[in-house]
Amino acid sequence: MKDNKLQILDIIPGTSVDGPGLRTSIYLAGCNHQCPECHNPQSWDFAGGKAMSVEEILDVVEENGFNVTLTGGDPVYSAAKILPLVKILNEKGYKIWLYTGFLFEELLKMESMRPILPMIEVVVDGPFKIALKSLKVPFRGSTNQRLVDVASSLTIGQIVEWTDPADML
Ligand code: SF4
Repeated sequence: MKDNKLQILDIIPGTSVDGPGLRTSIYLAGCNHQCPECHNPQSWDFAGGKAMSVEEILDVVEENGFNVTLTGGDPVYSAAKILPLVKILNEKGYKIWLYTGFLFEELLKMESMRPILPMIEVVVDGPFKIALKSLKVPFRGSTNQRLVDVASSLTIGQIVEWTDPADML
């Protein structure tokens, strides 16, 4: 049924810029944050891209076997629709990163995100801020954005930033 489908701008398997290792990045259509100089303003349209079922998306992920990044747009606007996808990816053992223009503290107050957050490894949070743009912060566009280690943050009740295990070697 079309209503259960997700509006997908693109799916890129094998990217290395949206989290550690090679990943399959899934671009959800729609964003209302309107960050000045957004890298991808064509992603703001909630009707952009094409409608895909969870099964169709899963086929692409499984074909490549990489961990998954949900980005956009901002996938949080489609929380109800991404829940079944996140559930099945989680059950299959994929690690999931999620990019959003909302702050992690805001996500904690959203009913729709409550079942999703525990299944996400890292939330890359906050709007892109052109004045804080930096090429030196891995996996982010501006220095205000954080890599939030979701499990640790939920456990201790305050933001814990993710540390790349590769940095500890
Ligand atoms: S949250 Fe991302 S997609 Fe949305 S306006 Fe900001 S930079 Fe663009």
